[in-house]
Amino acid sequence: MSTPQAQPATPHFANYINGEWVTSSKTFESRNPANTDEVIGVFSKATTADMERAANAAEAALPGWASMPAPARGNILYKAADILEKKFDQLGAEMTREEGKTLPEAKGEVRRAINIFRYFAGEGSRLDGVMVPSERERVHVFAIRKPIGVVGLVTPWNFPIAIPAWKMAPALICGNTIIVKPASVAPLSAWRLVEALHEAGAPKGVVNFVAGSGGELGAALVNAKPVKAISFTGSNDIGHWIHQEASKRRLRIQLEMGGKNPTIVLADADLKMAVENVVNAAFFSTGQKCTATSRAIVEEGIYNKFVEAVVERTKSLKVGDGMKPGIEIGPCVDEGQMDTVLKYIEIGRKESGEPKCGGKRLTGDGYDKGYFVEPTVFADVKPEHTIAREEIFGPVLAITRARDFEDAMRIANDTPFGLSSSIQTSNLSKMFDYVYRAEAGLLTINLPSAGVEYQLPFGGTKDSSFGPKEQGPAALDFYSDYKTVYVKY
Ligand code: NAP
Repeated sequence: MSTPQAQPATPHFANYINGEWVTSSKTFESRNPANTDEVIGVFSKATTADMERAANAAEAALPGWASMPAPARGNILYKAADILEKKFDQLGAEMTREEGKTLPEAKGEVRRAINIFRYFAGEGSRLDGVMVPSERERVHVFAIRKPIGVVGLVTPWNFPIAIPAWKMAPALICGNTIIVKPASVAPLSAWRLVEALHEAGAPKGVVNFVAGSGGELGAALVNAKPVKAISFTGSNDIGHWIHQEASKRRLRIQLEMGGKNPTIVLADADLKMAVENVVNAAFFSTGQKCTATSRAIVEEGIYNKFVEAVVERTKSLKVGDGMKPGIEIGPCVDEGQMDTVLKYIEIGRKESGEPKCGGKRLTGDGYDKGYFVEPTVFADVKPEHTIAREEIFGPVLAITRARDFEDAMRIANDTPFGLSSSIQTSNLSKMFDYVYRAEAGLLTINLPSAGVEYQLPFGGTKDSSFGPKEQGPAALDFYSDYKTVYVKY
């Protein structure tokens, strides 16, 4: 008779308000999208009263945190980064299990979050102001940065640790106190950042974590009196709602939203590199990167060869549980996202014809308990087709034929979105033409459209974004304000 194995209890993750871990009577589960039998964690579901408490706690903590020397605030971020570093492998595995991306991708993202914490910790010793000569004699003029106050940070599930990190770290270093509202499908990675800050000695009330339905908590956050600014990353619909509501209170807002990112492939491109870059940008992380390529716009002269090579490479991608070595593409994050992807594939079939590869949910051994969709390539997609116009946020690539560079530029820019954009070419003159004319905030040349670095400004144009850029030195401009001083001496 076999001995019954003790099942490890599912961990419970409480909210964090005013320096204390606060449980709720209501909870929600986060499940592994590669194996929905596995519960990653049970989370306390915050109420609107919890959101109010968090906002009040953040307000009470503000004077102390804002007056702490910025390098001392930086030391807390450095300590938190060291704590995260010690848990590096654990955090990577947790992210793969909560979001589905492969373990190497997840570890890369954890590395990025640690680097972001250290980068902004360093900003604590560099926070600059303005010092210029006065027009008047014996008058000294300067401007110093000051925090904005209590800031609400609303984050999506697709980069569950990097996006919270790139909002939390600059907000904190500038002296703001924060309320973090993570995505409900993947809240654990953000919770770990908060845990690290708690262990690093962030004073009570400086960092608050409130998990639960955005639909229920959103209004409470936007209307909480102490909140002075909101930084949001997510879908256009929610972003527009926040814009409307937050503008009524004249909150400072920063919105990073959807995309329909093009990669132009010109006939003079290095074919092998272009294929690798497009496949990487379209399918890695299951196409669930905001900067993913969802449209390849390919010049006539290279079109047939490109389609053939992309299809061949796409068919070779290994789809499965991202914890397994060799897997390149994980599942969609949840059932809703998978259904959206499958719905768009059906629309694509009707408007653009049968896909050249993929097109189905994966079933059978190793797939039945997850949300796996075959990486799917549509060719000869017309620019007006739905799959070339609407964000899908999954492993679906639409390839469109362009007559020449001018035609490709026109098609690439003909979208309300403007997040990222890429070109594959060896022609220097066209590269620069592209740099000046591409309507997107993030451009790559002979690289995948996805894959940004934290030390540079990040964000889009047109309907993809609103407000100042994130990351790099630009982030400080959203999270601080100037106080200008004139002195007669
Ligand atoms: P989402 O549905 O808009 O959710 C984003 C966040 O907003 C979640 O925390 C969500 O909470 C919360 N939320 C929902 N309703 C709200 C409300 N009424 N008020 C305030 N917050 C509310 O987006 P998602 O599905 O998580 O992420 C995918 C989208 O994000 C895609 O469109 C993608 O392009 C975009 N994205 C953009 C960037 C960028 O930098 N531009 C980066 C990553 C992702 P719940 O989870 O509880 O609903």
